[in-house]
Amino acid sequence: MADPIVVTRIGELRAALDADRGVGRSIGFVPTMGALHEGHTSLMAQARQRDDVVVTSIFVNPLQFGPSEDFEAYPRDPERDTAVVARHGVDVLFAPEVGEMYPELPRTTITVAGLSESLEGKGRPTHFAGVTTVVAKLFNAVGPCRAYFGEKDYQQLVIVRQMARELSFPVDVVGCPTVRELDGLAMSSRNGYLTADERAAAPVIYRALQSGAAAILAGERDAAVVHDLMAAIIDAEPLAQLDHVAVCDADSLSVPKQLAGNIRLLAAVRFGRTRLIDNVGVTV
Ligand code: AMP
Repeated sequence: MADPIVVTRIGELRAALDADRGVGRSIGFVPTMGALHEGHTSLMAQARQRDDVVVTSIFVNPLQFGPSEDFEAYPRDPERDTAVVARHGVDVLFAPEVGEMYPELPRTTITVAGLSESLEGKGRPTHFAGVTTVVAKLFNAVGPCRAYFGEKDYQQLVIVRQMARELSFPVDVVGCPTVRELDGLAMSSRNGYLTADERAAAPVIYRALQSGAAAILAGERDAAVVHDLMAAIIDAEPLAQLDHVAVCDADSLSVPKQLAGNIRLLAAVRFGRTRLIDNVGVTV
């Protein structure tokens, strides 16, 4: 497979992709923060299947990290990542410097009200504005495309979809299933932070979510009962510190009392200094 073209400038990316669209090629876009794993490459594979030109971006976005979060420590391995995208048939790798994306301190940010404050937004009040602002910039740089996002970051997917719709981005946002390790742990660039003991304990998150889904499928309709069942499973693991579990409507992320329709079960759990998130869907 040919090596991808590596582009670091917004103008250069836009010109290259305009030329592709000009001859009728569709663009598939996979935004990432690098430290690529099979979750990311599954998105590239989806894009490769459906689109003529596959673009991946690698940009660790400072705007979405809080002051006490891991922006500096976030894993970066550009050489390995370049080899990974080459192996997965990516045509264009967009890897801008921070100064290209934010030549000045951004005064213009995008907030999707009503979806960004709960769950992940609760303890991370500026996180989703950081995400939507960088995704909007990336969508403007890439132009009309299909953009592939993982369900792993479910709230992010819902928020980006809402933003694209409300701001009329010419972008079709495609949600893709979560890729897991054999023991159920959702793949994440942050899994590498875990000690061996924490790594062994971490699949409790998926077990708790699955138990919640099983209870609903067995007829439980009281959201509080499902919530408490999942919380108890995580609390029983000594190395896990529960941040939150939630039982939400899959579209609005509101918390229904009685369960009906498309439901999403979500969890955020700390193992030592590492905070992991996961979720599953269930329809009743
Ligand atoms: P990140 O590099 O963590 O910002 O993730 C980039 C994209 O990959 C996002 O759309 C994530 O939801 C997606 N992603 C991350 N982990 C997984 C996974 N285990 N399965 C599927 N998609 C994932």
